[in-house]
Amino acid sequence: MASKLNPKTKNIEFGGAPGALAISIVLNQMVRPDYFIKGWFSNFEFAQLWNGIKSSRYYFTRYDLWTYYTAWHLGLAALATILPGKKMNGVELRDGTSLPYKINGIAMSAALFLILAVRWQLTQGQLPELQFLYDNHVDLCIVTILYAFLLSVYVYVTSFFPLLGKNGHNTKERILALGGNTGNPIYDWFIGRELNPRLGPLDIKLFCELRPGMLLWLLINLSCLHHQYLKTGELNNALLVVNLLQGFYIFDGILNEEGCLTMMDITTDGFGYMLAFGDLSLVPFTYSLQARYLSVSPITLTNYQLATIFGFMVTGFYIFHKSNMQKSLFRQGKLPHLNSIATKRGTKLLCDGWWAKSQHINYFGDWLISLSWCLTTWFQTPLTYYYSLYFATLLLHRQSRDEHKCREKYQESWEEYERNVPYKIVPYIY
Ligand code: NDP
Repeated sequence: MASKLNPKTKNIEFGGAPGALAISIVLNQMVRPDYFIKGWFSNFEFAQLWNGIKSSRYYFTRYDLWTYYTAWHLGLAALATILPGKKMNGVELRDGTSLPYKINGIAMSAALFLILAVRWQLTQGQLPELQFLYDNHVDLCIVTILYAFLLSVYVYVTSFFPLLGKNGHNTKERILALGGNTGNPIYDWFIGRELNPRLGPLDIKLFCELRPGMLLWLLINLSCLHHQYLKTGELNNALLVVNLLQGFYIFDGILNEEGCLTMMDITTDGFGYMLAFGDLSLVPFTYSLQARYLSVSPITLTNYQLATIFGFMVTGFYIFHKSNMQKSLFRQGKLPHLNSIATKRGTKLLCDGWWAKSQHINYFGDWLISLSWCLTTWFQTPLTYYYSLYFATLLLHRQSRDEHKCREKYQESWEEYERNVPYKIVPYIY
């Protein structure tokens, strides 16, 4: 179905479903209290992975897990709608309008911590909800995959319904993602057909991107620390460090929530199975792999190891934060003295300061951060370095998509920019 507002998609990305689904299940089967990978996969047994996966009937009838996860997801959705926050508009859409958003991540996090603190008091530190999360980690991962499946079917089906109100063209047509309108139901369902599916005031895509997955990642990490504490009566320093570093990163994302409104995922990508699965399953259940591993195979980090880990984290965060901040200030017209290239679009491409070092110096900083988290497990096994490897692939793919977009958008100005700033991510290397 093509129209002036929603042209048919001709460019097909990804060439089909990536193995991410399998990765998420398999990784979690490799880090279980009863079986976990040691060293260079010396105890790897396919049967162990296979035996950990039960029938689909088992997962669909684990009503306790469905109740737990649905309460989590819908509870957060209710808080996102009710709690006060700053009102902001997103970028201008193809129909000339922009959608309103409520930025209330800080209030949301405060509410979550308050609930945890009260529960800690009431249960004398037992926190049965964290214990449930830890004990059912592997099965819950599969339930979130099924949940993401159902959610993406829902948003795909509703993308065919007319809007209740009118759009900027005075019609009831929904705005579809430019990349998700091929007409092939499986592809469009997977990649995301509608650009910004909403349920009343709740923007489903922004909500899933920032809340149920990111905050579950934080809770899973906490559940590992809590489990270890209940078992030994002590706080393991490696587990504590990975909780602190990743917790800091999650809260930095929440504090800079409004920056998400201009990110590619929100402005360009549709919300389909790929994003739903990534947000609800992949992020919480694979980003927490280091904490999970340390909970079954704890180590005590030496001062030298701690200094190395913090060295990577601080350097990475400094580059990531300063470069993103510099681009944001530049775009607001606050750094006019920096060298830049004017484009026909009226905007300027910064090629000074951090942005003279590489085209995506912020990605480099982000990747160093990922390495610091993996290092918390030190060199026990390469398995926990999955995150840095996965993240490098994600950033490389993102860089090539962004380059394609900028080349089409800025044409000769982008080519001039590339001559000025030849490295794509890592200065002097790539
Ligand atoms: P960028 O912040 O690099 O933004 C790219 C956009 O900025 C381009 O499309 C273009 O937009 C504009 N731009 C590019 N170069 C310049 C320049 N020299 N001067 C001015 N404007 C420029 O990328 P992302 O939005 O992908 O990522 C934002 C942050 O989020 C990054 O730090 C990244 O590491 C992080 N991230 C983290 C993820 C995670 O899972 N932890 C996942 C993805 C991202 P325009 O069309 O407006 O000109």
